[in-house]
Amino acid sequence: MTLRLHNTLTGTKDVFEPLDDSHVRMYTCGPTVWNFAHIGNLRAFLFYDLLRRHLQVAGFRVTHVMNITDIDDRILDQAMHAGTTIAEYTKPYAEAFLADMKTLRAQPAEQYPRATEHIEEMIRMISTLLERGNAYVADGDVYFRIASFPRYGELSHLDREGLRAGVRVARGGRGQKGSARPAHGGEAPPIRQDRYDKESVSDFALWKKSQPVDEEIGAAWDAPFGKGRPGWHIECSAMSKRYLGDTLDIHAGGVDLMFPHHENEIAQSEAANHRQFSRFWLHSEHLADATGEKMSKSAGGFTTLRDLLAAGHDPIAIRFFLIANAHYRSRVRLSDEALHAAGEQVRRLQDFARRLQQPVAPKDGGRLAERVAEVRHAYREALDDDLNLPQGMGHVFDLLREANAALDSGGVGEAAARELLLLMADVDAHVDVVTARDMALAGEVEQLIAQREAARKARDFATADRIRDELRARGIALEDSKEGVRWRRIAKV
Ligand code: AMP
Ligand code: ZN
Repeated sequence: MTLRLHNTLTGTKDVFEPLDDSHVRMYTCGPTVWNFAHIGNLRAFLFYDLLRRHLQVAGFRVTHVMNITDIDDRILDQAMHAGTTIAEYTKPYAEAFLADMKTLRAQPAEQYPRATEHIEEMIRMISTLLERGNAYVADGDVYFRIASFPRYGELSHLDREGLRAGVRVARGGRGQKGSARPAHGGEAPPIRQDRYDKESVSDFALWKKSQPVDEEIGAAWDAPFGKGRPGWHIECSAMSKRYLGDTLDIHAGGVDLMFPHHENEIAQSEAANHRQFSRFWLHSEHLADATGEKMSKSAGGFTTLRDLLAAGHDPIAIRFFLIANAHYRSRVRLSDEALHAAGEQVRRLQDFARRLQQPVAPKDGGRLAERVAEVRHAYREALDDDLNLPQGMGHVFDLLREANAALDSGGVGEAAARELLLLMADVDAHVDVVTARDMALAGEVEQLIAQREAARKARDFATADRIRDELRARGIALEDSKEGVRWRRIAKV
């Protein structure tokens, strides 16, 4: 099986292999904790979850790092208006983010580094860029000199002339994440403005000089180039290096981050490290609100997970909608109908899994087992083809109709039931909405039982006994019956 992922860098679906054997180093852009994450943000985060789960299914060990941006102009503005420090201000939102991820059954990343805890790493990288001539100081701010990095624009396939001519630097905009528009809840307008002492309009800030009030809110750090705070882009370059080294296998984020954020990350990291920054770049499409507009915190009117839960939606249906309704590179529109439809699909999967727990006929009624094996293969192929979960689920739902009909007529024998359990475990490895652990366990146990039966047939009793003991140690007892081998849970020995 070959895994192909769409790489923004090449513009094609490329065969994915990590640099280092079977270990994948992956960095994904996380939330800016100036407010609750909205469902659009959560779509991006669940795309990361689908990606990490499929990498595991494909046999790789994954080290996944997702940053928490806890310093940002909006955070500074909000903390100041609330009369508190940025640490106090961001704490509940960072906690809410982690809680949302748990509610949506996202596997935790190996690391969630926070920007404010990695200022030293950022200062070090900025110092290197200054030494190398890739950065310059202008009135206490430090900027990256884009003219010093000829490859700038390669990720988003920008031509540099066009970039220079077409760049948008709105005076009064803050040149950082988000826009200067008032945010959800009608908070007061921002009170800080970027200064423009740059050599070129497209040069971007690595470090921003402190204003007196920044110290009071805990947002100023000493650096050799003056007291200040880091820009947003340098965070990701410094923290990914700290946890994953100079070259990542995969860097992912929402498509809005491709330019300028990811382009800037590449420029900083490659200029500082003289190594390729990331081999694969994956970008997920937006979630639109009911009006078809990209959901956005700055534009207001966004929906959070809390809102959907309060409206009575099941978190499992929300999860399924976000990952399985559309391919990650297609836009998707949030609606009550779509969430209800996802809830219905989850129920069909769960009901079917429950039916499989009941005793089945000893003999297969037809070629169902073969057909399930084909669907398992097709499902895996769809996932290996740039994580096409909607296509994979299409195969599964088609099969469920047939298998339900076979169950109704008593035509599902042991071989088919075993394959169906394995299929449900395959599906749950990604969607995790069926009965997660139980289904995966059942699939695994059935596989071990089959191996033990094969060993017994081959009169390899040592292997057969070893498998029985291994299962017993995991709390599973085997019993021979007329219908074949059955298993049940016992206290672990
Ligand atoms: P932020 O908290 O704004 O830094 O965004 C965190 C992640 O959410 C990034 O990967 C963004 O690309 C992604 N994102 C922001 N808005 C949307 C949206 N409407 N749909 C999908 N992803 C989004
Ligand atoms: Zn980033």
